[in-house]
Amino acid sequence: MDKNLKEQFTGVIEFTPPLYKQRYQFIKDLVGKYKPKKVADIGCADCTLLWMLKFCSCIEVLAGVDICLSVMKKKMHMLGPLPVDYLRPSARSLTVTLHQGSVAQKDPCMLGFDLVTCIELIEHLEEPELQKFPEVVFGFMAPSIVVISTPNSEFNPLLPGVTSFRHPDHKFEWNRVQFQSWALEIARDYDYSVEFTGVGEPPTGMEDVGFCTQIGVFIRKNPQTSEFTQSDKTTEAVYKMVFKAVYPSLKDEKYLQNAVVSEVIFTAQSITQSLLDRSVSEHGECSERKSKCQPSMNRFSEDLGKLVVEKSKEAFVNGNVVYIPLTTIFSFPRVNQLCATFEKLCKLISGKVTLNSDGSAVMFNTEHENKEN
Ligand code: SAM
Repeated sequence: MDKNLKEQFTGVIEFTPPLYKQRYQFIKDLVGKYKPKKVADIGCADCTLLWMLKFCSCIEVLAGVDICLSVMKKKMHMLGPLPVDYLRPSARSLTVTLHQGSVAQKDPCMLGFDLVTCIELIEHLEEPELQKFPEVVFGFMAPSIVVISTPNSEFNPLLPGVTSFRHPDHKFEWNRVQFQSWALEIARDYDYSVEFTGVGEPPTGMEDVGFCTQIGVFIRKNPQTSEFTQSDKTTEAVYKMVFKAVYPSLKDEKYLQNAVVSEVIFTAQSITQSLLDRSVSEHGECSERKSKCQPSMNRFSEDLGKLVVEKSKEAFVNGNVVYIPLTTIFSFPRVNQLCATFEKLCKLISGKVTLNSDGSAVMFNTEHENKEN
């Protein structure tokens, strides 16, 4: 059968996008569908999948596990926050950790995940590790969803240069019946449903071989009463944490305060600037007699004062100072979105932004502004 297949097929297999990207995209699509908050990738190797997943806004906890520290180290720096993450902290929290350890061992840091991915992992496991795999992943970790991918050996005759296994470290490669019977037994034992699919379409006319990568998606049938079950699973820590990054988030009061103060100052500046612009345009005739009419800041403020009182009734001017009511600032969408309540706005800017004596308005010195410009 294999020999015939090879003889029938004379083309060159080229996957577009490459097969590994199709596998990662499959996981990203699954994340888009189920929106898991906590995702662990076992056999994460150089952390490429984890790096792609950190951009999925539903994910708040990302963990990678691999037995090999050197492979994880290669690109682990990519998992840390960038300067832009500090400049504009995200609304979600995100913690990324990497652990050196084996999927054949239980560790408490692997509890509480919604999705566990094992991409091209199982074929690298020695027999005793493969024996322990179901108990660790499905019995102990017991996430809502497990995704397992592995090569489909039926596709191998179509791959150039593959005589036995696709990679020298593979301990086995299964056909679809072998993979599916193994997966169905696990699903039955641990009360999951499983669906089979794959990535890497076979060439036209060769559809019988199935996908190049076969995938099982396991969904836990019964939602776990997590806290009880988690605390039930006491076990000693055996994994070694080798990386941890906590991303700046607006859920952290410190970053929220910075963001609100910046936004309030920016809003106050914008309001002041638009008042100044309006004042200039309404006194445009002055520009023809510029030398005589160049307004001093006091004169300017006087004009501005009239203008504001007449036209807006919101902000007002006293001398060189523009007073912008906090209620006006709170009505700006970004400020409103950040603070949610007016009380929260007052609390967050207290002591950080100059306010008038009763704390109802932001004071903005136009003289200072003018000099800086
Ligand atoms: N999942 C990655 C991907 O799709 O790009 C890479 C998979 S790589 C082919 C297999 C990985 O499994 C290797 O990085 C290897 O170190 C890791 N591995 C092998 N045995 C393991 C074990 N017992 N526990 C955890 N990881 C293991």
